[in-house]
Amino acid sequence: MDNAIKMFSKAGLMVAVIDAWFRGTRGGAAPDSRWNAKGPCKGCGARTSALGRRVQVKRSGGVWTWALALADGRLFEIDNGYAFLPCRGGCGRVRAATMVDGVVNSKKECNAKCMAAHGPSCECACGGKMHGSSFNL
Ligand SMILES: [Zn+2]
Ligand SMILES: [Zn+2]
Repeated sequence: MDNAIKMFSKAGLMVAVIDAWFRGTRGGAAPDSRWNAKGPCKGCGARTSALGRRVQVKRSGGVWTWALALADGRLFEIDNGYAFLPCRGGCGRVRAATMVDGVVNSKKECNAKCMAAHGPSCECACGGKMHGSSFNL
């Protein structure tokens, strides 16, 4: 099996080969995090959101870098607190997304309102994991 992982840089370009991946996640206990791009895309109006896990990957050349790994294996560079995601609208733009600050509140049901949200914080039963999931990549 080909283990090469496609990683997209913040310029939206694919970084060809990742030598190794999943070195670990910061914190370890809560591996999945929700990232939302601020506002609609200036090009196409779409909103973009992603659920993934922060991993450290080694680029060819030996440099370790943070990335957001989606469940399907897509990998997007994280730099300076932003994950650089391709616009969900397919317009080709790159969206800078920030991690949702989520607090689990089991008394507040997670519903369609949370899933259609796009703000930076969440307090409901999902703890942020579903916050903006209507706009999932
Ligand atoms: Zn767009
Ligand atoms: Zn929720």
